[in-house]
Amino acid sequence: MRCEYCEKSVVGDKEVVIIAGKGPVHSRCFEQTLLSRRIFQGVALSSLPLEDLNEFKEMITIELNSRQYNDDDGVELFG
Ligand SMILES: [Zn+2]
Repeated sequence: MRCEYCEKSVVGDKEVVIIAGKGPVHSRCFEQTLLSRRIFQGVALSSLPLEDLNEFKEMITIELNSRQYNDDDGVELFG
């Protein structure tokens, strides 16, 4: 069994992930590939149109802000 990404054997490697339809690969190779392809939670960011990306970015900012706000709130309540 060989890793699809680096083409080295996965036999004996403890950090192996199984990809459906592809077989076992090194988890480090898998993660590196996800990062280089900019895939987050199954979404390929590089394939999204710019509008969607901007919307996504806005949503993340709003989400982060709301969590920050809640954290501050919690500190006030329990502090
Ligand atoms: Zn590999």
